[in-house]
Amino acid sequence: MTQKVALVTGSARGIGLATTAKFLEDGWKVVRVDWDAPALEASAEGLGDVHDIVADISLEADVDALVANVTELTGGGINALVNNAGIADFGPMEDTDFARWRRIMSINLDGTFLMSQGFIPLLKARRGAIVNIASISALRASTLRVAYGTSKAAVAHLTEQQAAELGEFGVRANCVAPGPVRTKLAMAVHTPEIIAAYHDAIPLNRYGQEEELAEAICWLCSDKASYVNGQTLAVDGGFESTGIGLP
Ligand code: NAD
Repeated sequence: MTQKVALVTGSARGIGLATTAKFLEDGWKVVRVDWDAPALEASAEGLGDVHDIVADISLEADVDALVANVTELTGGGINALVNNAGIADFGPMEDTDFARWRRIMSINLDGTFLMSQGFIPLLKARRGAIVNIASISALRASTLRVAYGTSKAAVAHLTEQQAAELGEFGVRANCVAPGPVRTKLAMAVHTPEIIAAYHDAIPLNRYGQEEELAEAICWLCSDKASYVNGQTLAVDGGFESTGIGLP
């Protein structure tokens, strides 16, 4: 049987790195893509069957080169694309100048679009699956997340578009909306007040762990989820179901 191949963006650390480890545990090969070369190198030791590529997923030229590179590497097919790379920048609309807005959109939304579009032929070739990583900020508005929340809501909708368009080719597309996880991204924007408020508001009264997200992501990519398509799965300790506003 041909070994399954997953491409995971933003996999030098955090949720992407944990997802890589879970794929490897399940016997997959992983192509890791990240723009942080030192972090990719530092996290590679002892990881296993990975192929690392440095690229910025928001740049068309980088994505074109990536598609060519991965086509050659895999013989033209991948089984899963996990669009996980993202950045966060919290602030109200009044303080969000256009450059800040565009930076968030270009990585979180444009990057997800470019990667998905570029890898359509490779996904079709193996009837693969796309998993886009959004956020609970996609599902609930707040006073601080005008750009981040809007970019992630668009990623959730893009997933539905992808499911509608690619289903006839056997390619599924789903979205995972993580609750708070103590990664570098989150800890840069979560103040002590936000952390305390999350602990109160989440029914499980805690942050999630990278590995808990990886389980859901890898399940959605696997054949066990063969009839799950076009969904956004909140992996958030029950936060979204409470109706409580985002801290
Ligand atoms: P992280 O900062 O630990 O990891 C993100 C990785 O993406 C980093 O290795 C970074 O170098 C890479 N990256 C960022 N922009 C890139 C680009 N343009 N090209 C290539 N690589 C790029 O963050 P994380 O918390 O693991 O976040 C992973 C995803 O989960 C993000 O999309 C984030 O928005 C989402 N998310 C995280 C949380 C949380 O609380 N941690 C909550 C909801 C959603």
